Amino acid sequence: MSAHSLPEKAAAVWHSLEVDKSLELLKTNADSGLTSQEVQQRLQEYGPNELEETAGRSAWEILVDQFKNIMLLMLIAVAIISGALDLISWQQGELKPGEVPFKDTIAILAIVILNGILGYVQESRAEKALAALKKLSSPNVRVIRDGKPVEIAGKDLVPGDVMLVEAGVQVAADGRLIEQSNLQIRESALTGEAEAVNKRAELVLPEETSLGDRLNVVYQGTEVVQGRGKILVTNTGMKTELGKIASMLQAVESEPTPLQQRMTQLGNVLVTGSLILVAIVVGGGVIQNMMQGKGFSNLQDLVEVSLSMAVAVVPEGLPAVITVTLALGTQRMVRRNALIRKLPAVETLGSVTTICSDKTGTLTQNKMVVQSAYTNNKTFRVTGEGYTPKGEFQLEGQTISINQSPEIQTLLVACALCNDSFLQQEQGEWKILGDPTEGALVTLAGKGGIEKDQWDSKLPRVSEFPFSSERKRMSVICRVEGVNDGVSSLTSPDPVISNLLQSEKYLMFTKGSPELILARCTHFHAGTGSTPVNDQQRRDILAENDQMASKGLRVLGFAYKPLTEIPPEGSDETSEQGLVWLGLIGMLDAPRPEVRAAVQECRDAGIRPVMITGDHQLTARAIATDLGIAQEGDRVITGQELQRMSDQDLEQNVDLVSIYARVAPEHKLRIVQALQRRGRFVAMTGDGVNDAPALKQADIGIAMGITGTDVSKEASDMVLLDDNFATIVTATKEGRVVYTNIRRFIKYILGSNIGEVITIAAAPILGLGGVPLSPLQILWMNLVTDGLPALALAVEPPEPDVMKRPPFSPRESIFARGLGSYMIRIGIIFAIISIILMEWAYHHVQAVTGPGLDPERWKTMVFTTLCVAQMGHAIAIRSNTRLTIEMNPFSNLFVLGAVVVTTILQLMLIYVAPLRNFFGTHWLSPTELGICIGFSALMFVWIELEKLFLRLMGKKPV
Ligand code: ATP
Repeated sequence: MSAHSLPEKAAAVWHSLEVDKSLELLKTNADSGLTSQEVQQRLQEYGPNELEETAGRSAWEILVDQFKNIMLLMLIAVAIISGALDLISWQQGELKPGEVPFKDTIAILAIVILNGILGYVQESRAEKALAALKKLSSPNVRVIRDGKPVEIAGKDLVPGDVMLVEAGVQVAADGRLIEQSNLQIRESALTGEAEAVNKRAELVLPEETSLGDRLNVVYQGTEVVQGRGKILVTNTGMKTELGKIASMLQAVESEPTPLQQRMTQLGNVLVTGSLILVAIVVGGGVIQNMMQGKGFSNLQDLVEVSLSMAVAVVPEGLPAVITVTLALGTQRMVRRNALIRKLPAVETLGSVTTICSDKTGTLTQNKMVVQSAYTNNKTFRVTGEGYTPKGEFQLEGQTISINQSPEIQTLLVACALCNDSFLQQEQGEWKILGDPTEGALVTLAGKGGIEKDQWDSKLPRVSEFPFSSERKRMSVICRVEGVNDGVSSLTSPDPVISNLLQSEKYLMFTKGSPELILARCTHFHAGTGSTPVNDQQRRDILAENDQMASKGLRVLGFAYKPLTEIPPEGSDETSEQGLVWLGLIGMLDAPRPEVRAAVQECRDAGIRPVMITGDHQLTARAIATDLGIAQEGDRVITGQELQRMSDQDLEQNVDLVSIYARVAPEHKLRIVQALQRRGRFVAMTGDGVNDAPALKQADIGIAMGITGTDVSKEASDMVLLDDNFATIVTATKEGRVVYTNIRRFIKYILGSNIGEVITIAAAPILGLGGVPLSPLQILWMNLVTDGLPALALAVEPPEPDVMKRPPFSPRESIFARGLGSYMIRIGIIFAIISIILMEWAYHHVQAVTGPGLDPERWKTMVFTTLCVAQMGHAIAIRSNTRLTIEMNPFSNLFVLGAVVVTTILQLMLIYVAPLRNFFGTHWLSPTELGICIGFSALMFVWIELEKLFLRLMGKKPV
């Protein structure tokens, strides 16, 4: 066993050991943690704290899933029948010289396999990419190392580390509790038990205690619901309980997107439709032949026609194009700081009608700077920038020394002590570790010469009632040094403190929402002593609070209470009463500069932004008005009002409210539900543990990447890596672009399929001998000459009006708004052009003979016209509204490239002999090729004329 190895037996029984014993076994210290050197050694020895990936679906399952598609099954059937026909011809010696037998069968099966493999590669890549993205959003962990609190990546944890956890955190490794305050942990990931458990460091449990009852240890993957704790890391990586049962790890979500579901439905419709058409063509052909007294002589021709039709109807390239588009969309979004956790969000984001956003950090910068302090009827202005603890205190324009004003000194001490953040200087720049609101308070205290570190040791914290968004306040209980060591009289050397106590041994400092704190105060601190608070004082305080809030400041109220003993855990309601009022602190959290434009963009796009905040209504209104979120006639509703409203009331008003202030997380759920009942498609942001239900309920749940808790990220569809409201708007725009492009290439691909099917069906009806297109040629068209331009259309840049129109309903069918009729219309035009060409070529071209000219080359002319016409279609379909001449041809080089490459490939099929033999095409004379291109151009002209016509009629395009 090496110096640091865990004693094997202890590894399983940390819950039966005293804290000290555990620390000793792991050779670490509860106050200073490990040293950097020790960490390096242990990282070498134990490896990173990572769980080995468990795949969502096995590779085999992903592969098999690819062949469960009805269209591919139909292709397999076509391959088999075609193979059987070839076998008969071969046996009967009917093969032409040089013809490869089973060509179609092999090609179709190759396409089926290729499609399967492509789908497989795409899907497994998508799963891997999602897993990687998930890691990217994986949280940091706070630990004590080298005697200082630092934040490290979860994977760098080692046994022996001292880890600090608080509400909202997902525990990153297994560990033994060293100390805790109101710590509650939900262990459902391990035990399946939904109820959170109270954890207690002081317990020592029997060895045989079951996992769910080990109240003095915590496990990786569980969630801290309340309170905080200091934990000795005992096991990391695959050695943790979660690692041991890695199969229980939540698999990466890979649910089919609504689009994929719609595609399955589309497959069913196409397959059924084509089977009906085949029945009509075959049945009709047979009856016609019989009536002419020729019996079943044309049956083989008819079967070949049906096989070609079946191949033609399946958009073989579509699944790959869709997967690639979604994957590209996800990548584009992550480059813009929106990390998609659930694929459907990519396309549904574009349908958002209402964005409910938190204020702090999302609309504002979350860089707090205290601007004013109000205590004992005096308002102090505070200067200084950022978190640098340098600045002046001014009273009525005069800079004052803190020592001249004992009341503000007391307030600053409360700021420093009732606080969990730390100030650190890194390369000359001051930074905070912890909540910015609290960071601003430590900075403020520092400006007045009150150093948090010193005061923390002077008045050590012995207990606390932690902050939560529901409580909107927090308290810390500090021991007054020199008092509780048996000496009855106060020996605290500091006059600031001695002013606050008589003979008590403890001081509680409370801070939080001012109205709430004031309501719990019975006394008023006036510099050196306290008196009962009177109504006038209460009115003055509230007036000052409103004054600060209406300037957009975030205001906190402060109070204290002397105590003779430490209040028991869970007694916050009774203990946080009878407080002595200290004062108000107002801090500025400037709006993010980019948000104003983003709000305007939302409005133009028919999306309503709504602010939901725990802050005061006046603060909220000032900021919302500044950003353009609140407009004339908009209502503000407070949490209290919301509490009193019935669900129906809320539903009736919900469209008029643009600010919800002083709300608790559970209100968010009601707001989302009310909006959804009004038919809105809601995106909702959240960061706390208790925001998770609202995030799940929202159509798009958005978690904060920086300040968000792990629990909220787990519940979300998308994570904002920069916490920025403007990013939501950008992602929405991307969502719209993705959806528009998907619709665009569906129109493009299916229009062509419909054209092919009708053209093939027309040949026997018109009494032309033979099938114009062989299955192999159809596959070529569907995959190559349609596929490449379709892929290029997937990256079409946004149309200028993408954020100038209202959102489309996410529930609309993919064929809505004329897409279905466009497909059929264009399919028919496509077919008419090809049929006229086919009829003409059949009768005229056949008659012209000469060297190298085959009488069957009319078929190649049809094939070429169908392919080249699609090139014109691809160019014209780039915009629904703008004519091609109005667009920059180089703005999507991919389309240009795809058109050039595909045309060259198509010409090679005609003029390169081995390819010509393989694909069964015929050599065309330049005149014939010119005729094909001329006919093809009609397609382009038609679509451009349609756009012009719609424009003249003032109609909205598809
Ligand atoms: P958002 O706008 O993103 O909802 P918020 O800051 O308004 O965020 P919370 O963080 O839940 O919402 O805070 C709610 C209220 O609780 C604040 O307005 C403030 O009065 C009080 N508060 C915030 N942070 C603290 C803290 N660290 N200690 C005590 N009270 C706090």
